[in-house]
Amino acid sequence: MSTSDFSSLKLHPDLLKNLGSLGYESMTPIQALSLPAILDGKDVIGQGKTGSGKTAAFGLGLLHKLNVKSYKVQSMVLCPTRELADQVAAEIRKLARAIHNIKILTLCGGAPFGPQIGSLEHGAHIVVGTPGRIEEHLRKRTLKLEHVEMLVLDEADRMLDMGFQDAIDNIVEKVPANRQTLLFSATYPQEIEDIAMRVMHNPITVNAPEAHEASTIKQCFYQANTDDERMSALRILLAKHKPDSALVFCNTKLDTQDVADELVHYGFYALAIHGDLDQRERDQALIRFANKSVSVLVATDVAARGLDIDALDLVVNFNVAHDPEVHVHRIGRTGRAGRSGIAVTLFSDRETRKLEALELDVVADVLPSDTYLDKPIKRPTMTTLKIDGGKKQKLRPGDIVGGLTGQGGIPGDKIGKITISSNWSYVAVESGLVKTALKKIQNDKLKGKTFRVRILS
Ligand code: AMP
Repeated sequence: MSTSDFSSLKLHPDLLKNLGSLGYESMTPIQALSLPAILDGKDVIGQGKTGSGKTAAFGLGLLHKLNVKSYKVQSMVLCPTRELADQVAAEIRKLARAIHNIKILTLCGGAPFGPQIGSLEHGAHIVVGTPGRIEEHLRKRTLKLEHVEMLVLDEADRMLDMGFQDAIDNIVEKVPANRQTLLFSATYPQEIEDIAMRVMHNPITVNAPEAHEASTIKQCFYQANTDDERMSALRILLAKHKPDSALVFCNTKLDTQDVADELVHYGFYALAIHGDLDQRERDQALIRFANKSVSVLVATDVAARGLDIDALDLVVNFNVAHDPEVHVHRIGRTGRAGRSGIAVTLFSDRETRKLEALELDVVADVLPSDTYLDKPIKRPTMTTLKIDGGKKQKLRPGDIVGGLTGQGGIPGDKIGKITISSNWSYVAVESGLVKTALKKIQNDKLKGKTFRVRILS
């Protein structure tokens, strides 16, 4: 018996037998690493993406713990979207086939409220839902969590991206403190660490090894002696690599604006950030870039400091950094979280000394063909909508997700980041669906109120 055999676990024999009939022959890495601790009652943070088998890891954990005879909600799984909640509920149902009469209920926004109340009144063992709708049930006292023994936060990073932090905190407050808490997340930014500190008790972290664990940054150097050459090199490289998110570093504020203006002139979806922008302009620029509705951000080193984005496909040094450490810092922004990334440095013959300081055996690469300039420029995958209502108008992420999905709306998995500020909210939606999204919010209102909505791009 190997340690990746399910039979090495203290699982109920019926659950084990069913795994065999599902064709689950051995545990996936995240299951082998997390299940012993989960079955032991420990809090566990699992770093694993969809496809890693994480649902079965927490699904088996919560089924193992369940008392079928008690029709009280004993486990709750929070998911960012209805699509994921449906998938999770389906997987748990599959795992639970061998146990009779297990009731699993999904409670998600975008679905009518009334039938959910009816189902809750009939009793359920496991609830899988989205934070906005669960919070609403708690406010209306239609859902009681005082018997919950296991709480799962699935795709926690995406829930935070969608602005569900406050909702999660409010929900967790209603769950008994002596519960077991599991958190799964594909990435592990500071915000996840913060939430784990707040809601978990001595968690164990398990990290499923991936085939492409090591990040790979490919560095390229291109010589461009005049301003015109530099600009056209940048355009060619952007046209060739077609990044969803590229960060271009300039050494001066003036250059950032000039470069961004010129890129926009040539049809690129670009913005500049530098110290002369006011707070709102800066926030909006960062939101649009993080939402992937603007694909190129041109920045100084100082202005880029607050930027915390893992998924940069391309970093361009429009000028060689003054200091080797700054260079390393700049290029380290690509290729994070196991992704591959490209870091490009443009240099002129007057910058050779700075280049030597990098101590990198630089060999100048040959610039790709300028025929790339004739190709159509890739449109951003997402579009940002700005809603004239925010925290002061009591708008919550769940209201926006609810307002966009459901009949005549768009699927929840086509919604990207949601950011709510005092008086405005920003939501990213897939560009192809932006008209449907706009119409849905305008026609159906949000929380019964009409808010002005417009495309920010
Ligand atoms: P998930 O990462 O939870 O979305 O799971 C990905 C897929 O793998 C699902 O379709 C599961 O049914 C399947 N799966 C989960 N665990 C196993 C296993 N140990 N062996 C084979 N398939 C599995």
